[in-house]
This record gives sequence, C-alpha cells and structure tokens, in this order.
Amino acid sequence: GAAAWARGLVKTYGQGETAVRALDGVDVDFRSAELTAIMGPSGSGKSTLMHCLAGLDAPTSGSVVIGGTEVSRLSQRRLTALRRTRIGFVFQSYNLVPTLTAAENITLPLDIARVPVDRAWFEEVVSAVGLGDRLHHRPSELSGGQQQRVACARALVSRPSVVFADEPTGNLDSRSSAEVLGFLRRSVDELGQTVVMVTHDPRAASYAHRVLFLTDGRITADLSAPTRRDIL
Ligand code: ADP
Ligand code: ADP
Repeated sequence: GAAAWARGLVKTYGQGETAVRALDGVDVDFRSAELTAIMGPSGSGKSTLMHCLAGLDAPTSGSVVIGGTEVSRLSQRRLTALRRTRIGFVFQSYNLVPTLTAAENITLPLDIARVPVDRAWFEEVVSAVGLGDRLHHRPSELSGGQQQRVACARALVSRPSVVFADEPTGNLDSRSSAEVLGFLRRSVDELGQTVVMVTHDPRAASYAHRVLFLTDGRITADLSAPTRRDIL
C-alpha cells in the first residue's frame, strides 16, 4: 500500500503577474518500504513539494495524505502532533543538540512529545545506525557522517509513516555520504521504513528504489530501480 500520497498539488507564491507556480498539479504515491529520490533542476519545485508533503507548508490547492490522515484538513494542533509522531525529518544540517549524547538526541523527539520509547524498535534503529560506542558521545566528538546518521536515527525513532530527507548528503564528503545513504537504504530494506529524499547528487539517487524527476513544478519522469545511466 501507499504510505503517503498527494493529488492535484498546486503551490503558487505571490499574486497577479508576478505569481510563481512552484507546483503545477502533482499527483504522486509513495509506496511503503521504498526509498524514493526526488531530483530536478534548481527551482523545479523539489523543496516546495517536500514541504507540502511533510505539512511544513500549505499547498494552494490539492490534498496530501500521510499514513491515512489528510494533512490539509488538520487543525494546527493535530498537524503538530502528526509531524512529531508520524513524520520524520532529515535536513542538510544535522541540527543535533550539542549538550546531549547521540542516544539522547535520538530519543529527544519522543521525550518532547512525552511518548514512551519503544525499546525494541530503538535497539533495531541503533543497531542499523552502526555507531557502536559512539552512541554515548556528544555531536562534537562525531564525524559529519556520524552526526547525520544520528539525525536519521532521530527521524526514525517514532517509527513514522514517512521520513522526508532534504539534501541529506549536501554537507558531506563521498565516504560520509555513503554511510548515511547506506543507513537510509537499510532502514527501508531491513526495518521497512518509507523514505523520500530530495537530492542533487546522482550517487545519492543510485541508492533509491525509485527516482522522480521534477521540471517546472511537474513530475516529468518516474523511474523504478533506476540504473546509473538513467540518473547521470
Ligand atoms: P527547488 O527546491 O527545486 O530548487 P523550490 O521549490 O525551492 O525549487 O522553488 C520552486 C519555485 O518557487 C522557484 O521558482 C522559486 O523561486 C519559487 N519559490 C520558492 N519558495 C518561494 C517563496 N518563499 N517565495 C516566492 N517564491 C518561491
Ligand atoms: P550493507 O550492504 O553492508 O548493509 P551499506 O550500508 O554499504 O551496507 O549498504 C546498504 C544498502 O545500500 C545495500 O544493501 C545496497 O542496497 C545499497 N548500496 C550500497 N552501496 C551502494 C551504492 N554505491 N550505490 C547504490 N546502492 C548502494
């Protein structure tokens, strides 16, 4: 089944002659346990699509359903609750709390939402993240790739319907990128999570089960099991 979908998504910025139609009617389904990469030129609407899907921005029209809940119909309070528990976020900058250990950072969203940590799931995530004893180190003692893996584990800890990652390897060298992408891919293949990432990096897209291309606010290609030639 689909973990999330969107129908007829339109997003317009500004009004009148200077209005920009950043999304021009996007219909898309994200199947469970798939890693989808969204690619496309700068200005094609990737960030806008991600923000509308994740409930960070309201579309001008159209609907978004995440884990069976129609996001656009929620009150602000319910939307906040949905974002905390049903949606995971990973950004280019890791946004870890410097005074907390990696393990404490991972459970922080649940602690803030006062949701008890599912220990068995936490152990699975922690085992997949491959940090070893670094789990009890603070962010300043970790490499960029390790910090971003902590941020990914934090996004997964509530077992969300979907994890949205916006350029997750944008700040990383190729070795750290491979660590992060390997973890995201394992979270899908081994833990059954659903991940949608925006990326410019063809190497990042090569980890995906599916690659969507956006052009001028529309999906112009949708490739399953893409080959290197499709992406490059
Ligand atoms: P991408 O992520 O693919 O680079 P964006 O979603 O950031 O694309 O932008 C799509 C279009 O919407 C671009 O033309 C951009 O200039 C415009 N846009 C994005 N955000 C805003 C905003 N807050 N105000 C006005 N225009 C915006
Ligand atoms: P492992 O295969 O030991 O779990 P990795 O973290 O290297 O370790 O990879 C996780 C998954 O990511 C692999 O099973 C594979 O599906 C995918 N993967 C690994 N390396 C690449 C690569 N260079 N390009 C595309 N996908 C890759």
